[in-house]
Amino acid sequence: MATPPHPFLWRRAAIATLHGKERAIAGPLRDAFAIELDVLPLDTDRFGTFTGEIPRAGSQHDALRAKLRAAADAAPRDALVVASEGSFFPDPAFPAVTLDRELVAIYDPLRDIEIVGVAIASARNVGSFTVGDERELDDALACLDVPRHGAILVDGERYHKGLHDREAIAALARAAWAHGTQPRIESDLRAHMHPTRMELIAAAAQDAVNRALACCPSCERPGYGIVERLPGLPCGDCGEPTERIASDVVRCDGCGAREERRRNDAYASPGDCSYCNP
Ligand SMILES: [Zn+2]
Ligand SMILES: [Zn+2]
Repeated sequence: MATPPHPFLWRRAAIATLHGKERAIAGPLRDAFAIELDVLPLDTDRFGTFTGEIPRAGSQHDALRAKLRAAADAAPRDALVVASEGSFFPDPAFPAVTLDRELVAIYDPLRDIEIVGVAIASARNVGSFTVGDERELDDALACLDVPRHGAILVDGERYHKGLHDREAIAALARAAWAHGTQPRIESDLRAHMHPTRMELIAAAAQDAVNRALACCPSCERPGYGIVERLPGLPCGDCGEPTERIASDVVRCDGCGAREERRRNDAYASPGDCSYCNP
């Protein structure tokens, strides 16, 4: 029996962004599904900004869904909609390190299929510095990799965004120093201002595409992926189950088909065993 074509093939798709995210996302969609990605010029800053001027209500996933809904309302009814949302937070294991987690979602309103791709990396060229003189200003700009990346200068309540030019930034800083305040220089984390972040968005888009390409063997629904990881890999010395992952559970959200896939490693190291290495 011939496999039916993937339901995303040749579809129209739309993304709501003012920040050029289509540059990171269009390529993976085109390569896998021959999709042309249209841009809806909707202001998604109302769902929250990195500067904290507009706080994000709810979780990163909540914001992602809100963007999907806004795009679905503005897009043709049969179009796929795409959204992306980033989050910066301290690494739970090494709090001095900031992580960037990027999510890219593809939603098919015809079949009510939502697929979310993820990419996480330690955040580079990201920071916030209070600057009191020219020297501190130059150090901050070097650390944030300006002009390749954009910067924000915060002077009291005023946010000057999208800055790349050293002299323009210095003029704003001098004006702040002249009235006795120390301005803050921060990364402008909007995608079009931050090429490092844009690369991670592209990785999340590729992950979403990879997940979409995996289809259920029973009903062909896209997004047949890992939903759970089961520990219990036996210790190589004593054979007792350990906390190491033994198998992955894969499930279809459509028909409920489910399988457990054993990992390749047959045994855990005795170092991971609570009997051999208590
Ligand atoms: Zn053991
Ligand atoms: Zn299925």
